[in-house]
Amino acid sequence: MGERAEHPHNVLIVSLDTVRADRLGVYGGRAETPTLSALAARGGRFSQAISNFPETCLSHQAMLTGVLPEVHGNVPAVGGSRYRGPNLAEIAAAEGYATAAFIGGVTLTDRACGFGRGFGHFDDRFPVDPADMRRPAADVTAAAARWLADRQGPWLAFVHYFDAHFPYTPQPPWDTRYDPDYDGDIDGTDAALRPYRDGGRVPSPRDLAHVLALYDGELSQLDGMLAPLLAAVDDDTIVVVTSDHGESFEHGYYFNHRAGLWDPVLRVPLIVAGPGVAPGVVVDSPVQLIDVAPTVLELAGLPRDARMQGRSQAPALRGDGAENGESPPAFSITDPWMPDPQWAARTSTHKVIVRTDGVLGYDLRRDPGEEHPLSEPPASLLRLRADYDAQVASLAAWQAPAPGPRPLGIEEQERLEALGYLAPAGTAPRPGAASGEGGADGNGQRRGPPTPPKR
Ligand SMILES: [Zn+2]
Repeated sequence: MGERAEHPHNVLIVSLDTVRADRLGVYGGRAETPTLSALAARGGRFSQAISNFPETCLSHQAMLTGVLPEVHGNVPAVGGSRYRGPNLAEIAAAEGYATAAFIGGVTLTDRACGFGRGFGHFDDRFPVDPADMRRPAADVTAAAARWLADRQGPWLAFVHYFDAHFPYTPQPPWDTRYDPDYDGDIDGTDAALRPYRDGGRVPSPRDLAHVLALYDGELSQLDGMLAPLLAAVDDDTIVVVTSDHGESFEHGYYFNHRAGLWDPVLRVPLIVAGPGVAPGVVVDSPVQLIDVAPTVLELAGLPRDARMQGRSQAPALRGDGAENGESPPAFSITDPWMPDPQWAARTSTHKVIVRTDGVLGYDLRRDPGEEHPLSEPPASLLRLRADYDAQVASLAAWQAPAPGPRPLGIEEQERLEALGYLAPAGTAPRPGAASGEGGADGNGQRRGPPTPPKR
């Protein structure tokens, strides 16, 4: 028997929904994150981890399958992925692992996202307060810890925390920690921020600073909630902490993520610890969330699936100086079945964002804040669109036919509307909803240019 059979490594994947990397203390940001800093010290972190999709469901589908979001089809409209290749949980289960997922937000339930595939225990039932659409972090941690306590033999667990997602309402002391002197009127509730999220109002610099302080407070509070979960696993466990996407507080796009591809939305934490990871290693070459699945498979000693489009970053985590050769560009898209789809390609030094109202190019070395678009977007990055389309098309044989839209229950409809994922009933329907798969067909064909996004 090989080493894997004798010493299978357990796997814990933690997703902190809506957490941008640069605000976190472990990434040099203001929000204190002692738990994540300790994890990064005994493991490694990626300084440029890029989300492939700025919404919860499809980003996580990409994260656990290692294939680009568009391959999965219009999952939010139809409730499940078209992709027939395996995800991490299915591969682990086939190797004898016990698998479980603990879901903290309504957009990642099996009903909303078809995310239960491969999980022997899928814990996605919880009472939802319409004010914040989440299951409190302490409840998520407790449920996961109960399951972990019963484990004999190898296991893989996925744990999802929705607390950093809008609204930004941290508890004391985190509600005032980063802006104790604010005496204005704005707060982090849906009622206060919805006019800005919808693009109708622009916050004053002082109010914006206050809302960012509330977001940072949520990040610190969440870091504290993680500590008991990470303490429940031993050092022989592969631990991954990441996020599905960030959040925007700039570029005229406030308190939201689904219609932006700037770095505040795309750059997420990615911290990995456990056997095979050099303590304290920092990997600066760009990686993508589709790299998570192949990386975990290699670190755990599980078989790789050849269909995965991400690359294992295990060599870089070993810290032997070989950062896995030349990094391929990271590709990101906004929902291609909604109006005004955007596409982005990013290297360690440059980025392009292709929008229906024009193309934005950035030199990230001189302009990391993406505030000064280049007069000429880098042509070499624009040419990558053909590579991206070919990658999506290459898995067509593994896509089931697009199912028709499923009727949403009233309750689910209301939840998704409240989160801004669906247009309210009675307004224009989602473009993809009527035909199931709408504008992009898996071959990269797009509809004609719609109107520019609201700013
Ligand atoms: Zn999310």
